[in-house]
Amino acid sequence: MTGHKAIIGLGGNIGDVLDSFRFGLDCLHADPATRVTRASPLYRTPAWGLEEQPDFLNACAELETWLSPHELLSLLQSVEDMRGRKRCEMWGPRTLDLDLLIYGEQQIDTNNLTVPHPLITERAFVLKPLAYLTPGMILGAKTAKHHLQVLSSEEQKMKLVSDDTWWMVS
Ligand code: ATP
Ligand code: CA
Ligand code: CA
Repeated sequence: MTGHKAIIGLGGNIGDVLDSFRFGLDCLHADPATRVTRASPLYRTPAWGLEEQPDFLNACAELETWLSPHELLSLLQSVEDMRGRKRCEMWGPRTLDLDLLIYGEQQIDTNNLTVPHPLITERAFVLKPLAYLTPGMILGAKTAKHHLQVLSSEEQKMKLVSDDTWWMVS
């Protein structure tokens, strides 16, 4: 039986962020109900929302999961916690941020979970790796690739750090 396809966004700007990303995907892949199927390339991005902080690394990953969306959110948050994530300030510096961007075709709007993630279309740092994994994904009647073209000045500030081989199933 196949599971649900989900896409997560990874971000961080404190500590060894590439190591945190690998740790994060390793943890998700080790969960018996989830496997990581693909990762996007890795980008260095100026901070968004709260600009006076170090650049971020960003990427996306595709999962196959048998967890419900809320179960998956709990798993993402527990992995963030294991990496010492402190929740002080909205959009502030962090070791590891794991956002649930897409869960199949589902639209979810609850107190603690909104899917698709509501800010995808405003963030080149999400759209670029997302469009790499799934360029034809429709968000608000337009493709991810289209939304990214609208944010081309933001996209130009992103630097490619690594191709999509930074994480491999071990
Ligand atoms: P943003 O969500 O704008 O990227 P953030 O990642 O800095 O901001 P967090 O502090 O990581 O925000 O999370 C705040 C809350 O967002 C979490 O407690 C979680 O319940 C909620 N949330 C709602 N929808 C989602 C989602 N799709 N993925 C992750 N968290 C979500
Ligand atoms: Ca986030
Ligand atoms: Ca988050």
